[in-house]
Order: sequence, then C-alpha cells, then structure tokens
Amino acid sequence: MWMIYRPDAVTVWRNSEVKDRLSRYYAIMNDELPAKFLVAKKVSVNVDLNENIEKLWYIHEKTSEKFRSLLKKIDAGEVHLENLDTPKVSYLDLKIEIAYRILQKCCFCERRCKVNRLKGERGFCRIDEKARVSTAFLHMGEEAPLVPSGTIFFAGCNFGPCVFCQNYDISNYPENGEEVTPEKLARIVNSLKREGARNVNWVGGEPTPNAYHIIASMKHTTVNIAQLWNSNMYCSKELMKLLLDIIDFWLPDFKYGNDKCAERLSKVSNYWNIVSRNHKMAYDETVAQGTSGMIIRHLVLPNHIECCTRPILEWIAKNCSKALVNIMGQYRPLFQVPGNPEYSDIDRRPTGKEMEKAYKIADELYILWRPVS
Ligand code: SF4
Repeated sequence: MWMIYRPDAVTVWRNSEVKDRLSRYYAIMNDELPAKFLVAKKVSVNVDLNENIEKLWYIHEKTSEKFRSLLKKIDAGEVHLENLDTPKVSYLDLKIEIAYRILQKCCFCERRCKVNRLKGERGFCRIDEKARVSTAFLHMGEEAPLVPSGTIFFAGCNFGPCVFCQNYDISNYPENGEEVTPEKLARIVNSLKREGARNVNWVGGEPTPNAYHIIASMKHTTVNIAQLWNSNMYCSKELMKLLLDIIDFWLPDFKYGNDKCAERLSKVSNYWNIVSRNHKMAYDETVAQGTSGMIIRHLVLPNHIECCTRPILEWIAKNCSKALVNIMGQYRPLFQVPGNPEYSDIDRRPTGKEMEKAYKIADELYILWRPVS
C-alpha cells in the first residue's frame, strides 16, 4: 500500500549509484546480510564487566578489531551468523555496560554535564535516567531509500532548543512521552519490522541522551533490521565509539557552517569542530566497511547560504565525497521565530532563488543529492 504514496521508495533502487553507495544497507533490507548489532552479539569478550571503565574501554578497542574482521568474513560469505555460538559475554554486552557507566557521569554529548543521571540528576537536556518515547510509527516522509522507516521519537533534546524547531513540542518537553525500558523498545522495533519497516530510525528530539536505552534494546531485538542514527551529531567521541560498530545507517543533520550561527540559533558551542569530527568518524567507518551508508541532511535557512550552506557542502565534498546528501527546502519559521526581531533573518521561507543557489553549489561540487531530495 505504501508504494502508492511513495513509488520513489521503490524506483530509487534502480539508480545504480544509490544502490552501490548504500549496498550493505540494501542487503540488510533484503535479509541478505545481518545488521551489525546481530554480529556484535556473536563476538565474545573476555572481561569481567565489573572492571573499571579504563579497562572496559581498552577491551572495547581490542574487540572492535575482532568485530571488523568477523564482519568482513560474513559480508564475503565466508562465515554465516547462524553457525556461530552465542558467547557468555558479547561485544554488545560490553557496549551496554559502558553506556550504563556513562549514565552515572553523563558525557553522551559534548555538553559533558557529568551528572549522575542514575541518581536523578539532570544536565542541560533535563533528561533523567529514564527514556521516554513520544511516538513510534512507520514514517512515509523520509528519504526514498529509507521508506517505510520505523521511526521512534524520543522526548527531549541536548540542543538549546533550536529557535526554529519544528518538533519543539517533543524536543522541549523531556517529561512528555511514555517511559520505555530497553525490553519495551525492542518490542516496538520487532513489531515495526513485522509491519514492513526497512530500518529503525532513532530520532527525537534527539536520540543521544537516550543512547543507553537504545544500545541496550539491541540485546532484546530479535529481528534483522538496520539501525539508523538520526541525530544532530553533537555527541561525544565516547558515544561515537560505542555506536560505530552497531549503527548501519547514519542520517546526520549538518545545520550550521560556523559556530556563531550555531550558538545564536541552537545555543551550542564549538559546533563546527564537534559535528564535522563526528560526521567524519561515521563516514570513515562506513567506507572502511565497504559502503557509505549515509545520507547527510542539510536544511537550507533563508539568508544563510554563504555562512552555512556553502561551507557545509564544501566540507562534505572534501571529506565525505561518497555520502548522499539531502538538501532540504522545507524550512518555515516556527517556534520562537515568527515576529521576533532577534531572528528576523530567518523569519521567512527560503526563496526559489536561494534553493537554486544551494543546488548549484552542490552540483558544482559533484555532490549526489537529487535521488534522495
Ligand atoms: S546527554 Fe548531554 S546534555 Fe544531557 S546530561 Fe548528558 S552530557 Fe548533559
């Protein structure tokens, strides 16, 4: 039925460039290869999970090499997942334990609040130790290769919030939504897959503060489904390390081309260095594993072509040349923007001319954006 609404979700796979760049994701979608979290469950770890955090990170680093070597063999058809024993302690268990420790001194994102969320302390995002889901459903409005997307929206966000947030009723109210355990999240994922989801799309608000629940849910997820990280990418290097070997598809949001715009519109500091670093880490990893598995989103803001759109596209062309890009033109003034003189520069929709300019910059840089926009 969904094919009637989104025929492009089928026809997009006739584009050999898209199919090639998203080859591993495509294979998971068709059940020809396992999602990475299923492989992580099969990699054994020889460590007492009560060890100190430094030791756990050390073992994590070592196990990552083991994981990548196994993944290569699985992708080459030399090893089959169903023939592997399930270890007593797995690479995924190790990741869950490290994420749990981070909750006690939170550094999931680069705000690094260091609060003990297990004791009810709250940092900038105001999210305690619980995860709350605002809504979960099959999303038909995402990029063509992702539809239908099993989208899970978490309440709360670690950004300012963005003054133009279109989901401010979700992102600005972390206490809203239904409390979920990792087991419950897994049940939602299993059922979204049965309904036809091509991926589980972790979003919000923002998934970053809920990383422990998301990673822990994978232990209870029994279906083969691509794990998709749909994020502002302001997460810490530590969280990136935990995610790299279990996320199959990156859907990062590259919003600002400089720190000044980021500070003013989303109240985040050192934006450029952090977000570009994380894009690069994700991209390099997916390329190393034989597929780009990434669509970078950029929402064009009116009057921000030269300060934001251009530097972002130039950076992508130089650093993530095989990533697909979605240059989005649906911005409209919402939340704190309408009628506010402080944000008069973004108090309108981008003009046709501005969008044309953004597309022209992308074309001149040989960025592949048309099939997914
Ligand atoms: S997720 Fe980020 S903002 Fe929230 S408590 Fe942790 S470090 Fe602070």
